[in-house]
Amino acid sequence: MLLIRCPYCEEERPELEFRNAGEAHVVRSSEMTATSDEDFEAFFFIRSNPKGIIYERWRHIHGCARFFNAVRDTVTDRFVMTYKAGEKKPARLPKVGK
Ligand SMILES: [Zn+2]
Repeated sequence: MLLIRCPYCEEERPELEFRNAGEAHVVRSSEMTATSDEDFEAFFFIRSNPKGIIYERWRHIHGCARFFNAVRDTVTDRFVMTYKAGEKKPARLPKVGK
């Protein structure tokens, strides 16, 4: 079973306790009413969908219920690390064993 570390509970818990909440670090414009249709489309629908490292929002729905961010490898489906919501993308990623 896949284990995910909640940065608030500070423990690894089964993935069934969590829900993916989409890509992390997608910034909503403070001037949304002045945003063009094309820019709104990009904000609302377009995601990076990389092969490899992705930054995602997750929620510990059957635990503390808080949102946090995770770095996951889409190729291996391994979580590289997790960090609290509001924190910047990590400058360096820890190495993950195969
Ligand atoms: Zn938690």
